Amino acid sequence: MSRYTGAVCRLCRTEGTKLFLKGDRCYTEKCAINKRNFKPGQHGQNRRAKVSEYGIRLREKQKLRRFYGINETQFRRFYAAASKMAGQTGHNFLQLLERRLDSVVYRFGIGVSRNQARQFVRHGHITVNGRKVDIPSFLVKAGDVIGVHEGSRDKVLIRENIEVAASRSIPEWLQFDPEKHEGRILALPNREQIEVPVKEQLVVEFYAR
Ligand code: SF4
Repeated sequence: MSRYTGAVCRLCRTEGTKLFLKGDRCYTEKCAINKRNFKPGQHGQNRRAKVSEYGIRLREKQKLRRFYGINETQFRRFYAAASKMAGQTGHNFLQLLERRLDSVVYRFGIGVSRNQARQFVRHGHITVNGRKVDIPSFLVKAGDVIGVHEGSRDKVLIRENIEVAASRSIPEWLQFDPEKHEGRILALPNREQIEVPVKEQLVVEFYAR
């Protein structure tokens, strides 16, 4: 399945919530959810029809998938892996999604959006424990050190992102040193430490139907 290449704000408007797909703009008044919080399209402002139980679960699944910017095939693969792990499938699923290298690069602030972070990984700008890794779905583990490749530290976009990110807080399971251009995974996140606008149990129910 191909990747969505249309206007990302439409995705937020379809789901009725901020998915933070556009970097700094998402935190400003210019955010489309602040200005036009109704579904896109000609009938977007019409009264919404009653949604079935299936529809509610489908929307929740789509919301989560779009939040992480993953195609359906890969998303299902992550779900299948989560369902085989011990513990709660919903929590395992979110934890696996958070452990993706592109997601961690975004959480550190090296990329302003997951999309940009994914590009940085693909283009070889990111290292894990000192070795270049260009696979966005690579899963990090506790103790890993994620850095910007030495040859990429002067890249204007990356430098500017890190400067801005230095004044922002990051999730407590991560630690980032802007001077060294690298961060560490202190521990894997528990559910409370994963900020996603989704009820993961509904996603589990969607796939378990
Ligand atoms: Fe667009 Fe970001 Fe607002 Fe979503 S959160 S509507 S991507 S500006």
